[in-house]
Amino acid sequence: MKKAGIIFTILMVMFSGAAYAADNELVVYSARKEHLIKDLFEKYEKEQGVKVKYITGKAAVLLQRILSEGENTDADILLTVDAGNLWHAAQKGVLAPVSSEVLDANIPSHYRDPDNLWFGLSVRARTLVYNTGKVKKEDLSTYEGLAAPAWKDRLLLRTSKKVYNQSLVAMLIATLGEEKTREVVEGWVNNLAAPPYSSDTKVLEAIAAGQGDVGVVNTYYYARLMKKNPDLPLGIFWADQADKGVHVNVSGAGVLAHSKNKAQARRFIEWLSGTDAQKIFADANMEYPVNESVSPHEYVRAWGAFKENKLNLAQAGKLQADAIKLMDMAGYK
Ligand code: FE
Repeated sequence: MKKAGIIFTILMVMFSGAAYAADNELVVYSARKEHLIKDLFEKYEKEQGVKVKYITGKAAVLLQRILSEGENTDADILLTVDAGNLWHAAQKGVLAPVSSEVLDANIPSHYRDPDNLWFGLSVRARTLVYNTGKVKKEDLSTYEGLAAPAWKDRLLLRTSKKVYNQSLVAMLIATLGEEKTREVVEGWVNNLAAPPYSSDTKVLEAIAAGQGDVGVVNTYYYARLMKKNPDLPLGIFWADQADKGVHVNVSGAGVLAHSKNKAQARRFIEWLSGTDAQKIFADANMEYPVNESVSPHEYVRAWGAFKENKLNLAQAGKLQADAIKLMDMAGYK
């Protein structure tokens, strides 16, 4: 009897330990940088009594880690950028479907996976930026417009190796078809004023320096640079307003298939999609909230409203391989 009692006590301690971890702790693997998530995660801990631990790293490295840890992983949530990366994680089978009325209500459907494997949490617009001293706004129109001969030796782009451009071209394939998109990308390559840059910021700096006249970047990089140097001759142009609208993308999250804590992980993502968290999540990186009841930072609002392409972002993943092949064939490095 005594021995059975001791074993029972040990089991109780083990179970209560497990229950404590399950109820009061979450582990997030985040490709979103620490300074963008730290305060928000601490706020959740204070408000909800749930400790949110995290590691940060590059999207591909985190996915590889999740795959190699398998069912032994401590992680509950993958937080990453770009629908292309979220889709890729879903394809690899590391995400669990989450059914949630809260997420359905807070996040417009084109920002989340049709199978509920991932959910967008902030929106970034990838649009045209131009040198205000050299380009008339009236001469700008669409992404495909930048393939016209008028832009010969005037266009600057980031490398095609970056998922942002793979998603942009995938969405062009989805809206224009493959043949038309190939013509467009070949036109871009013909019009380049310099070989593709390694970052959006370098594209912006080169346009400001007059090395080219126009480029395609995520708006938060524009915000970052302009806040530091408000006098730079750079302007934002909302692409394709007469037709399909601006290409948008998301940062977002999914619950891991091997999370031991799925209900708590779902509650955290729900909280991130709510009004208080959305304001902090979007403003930290000068992005747009996914939750339409939350307004963007006034600095971002000042750029004006725009029409966005509302095609479901899963297309960015589904057509990613086609986009990479197409860009390669077009000579877009
Ligand atoms: Fe970025």
